[in-house]
Amino acid sequence: MKRRAARKTRRSSPAGRSRGRSAGAAAPTIAARRAEVVEICRRLHARDLIGAGEGNVSVRLGPERFLVTPSGANKGYLAPGDLVVVDAAGTVVAGRGRASTELRMHLAAYAARPDVAAIVHAHPLTAVALTVAGLPPPDDIVAEAAVTLGPIGLAPFATPGTDEVPASLAPLLPDHDVLLLARHGALALGRTLAEAFDRMETLERVARIALAARLAGSCEPLPAAAVERVLAAAGRPPRR
Ligand SMILES: [Zn+2]
Repeated sequence: MKRRAARKTRRSSPAGRSRGRSAGAAAPTIAARRAEVVEICRRLHARDLIGAGEGNVSVRLGPERFLVTPSGANKGYLAPGDLVVVDAAGTVVAGRGRASTELRMHLAAYAARPDVAAIVHAHPLTAVALTVAGLPPPDDIVAEAAVTLGPIGLAPFATPGTDEVPASLAPLLPDHDVLLLARHGALALGRTLAEAFDRMETLERVARIALAARLAGSCEPLPAAAVERVLAAAGRPPRR
């Protein structure tokens, strides 16, 4: 409960939530958005955050339109024309392929978070391994975890591709930008696609630090007062 209260404080920041709207107002062309999604998917694959058919990426094009990766493809090798456009109900309105099997997860996140304009779902190996081991999300062990990730939500295991997944995330979506899906993957929300990608990349890097620290003998969190100083130095509102 402490975290939820703190998160609400963070979200009320005037600096945090208004910029996404103005970034969206820049209105890049649909071709530019397609190219951006393809490039982020390529980076996710290159960084080993997805493999084979794993993961999916989407961006909000407008109030009722979303650009999303197709199902059944290796996301590391997509072409811009492979992406599909869906409406808020998930119906494909442009594109040849089927939308991602995890589309309902994306649509639930957009509905819960009007400030979010891009979503990255990946299967970061170390971060998922921590959930298999039953270890806590590593959101307070180093400074970048506190600043870039914020509190990490941990959703219980749900059957991928079913409504269980958005149901498991629903209680966490209002107050978290980064969510771990137990024994499955992770979801990173952003005001921009670059921000969502950075959160996913940072999540896996921090998870690797947590694992290495445990192997080395100890993984203690930063003291709460140090986390508060880190957030203050970064111009972020306090957690508590
Ligand atoms: Zn997945």
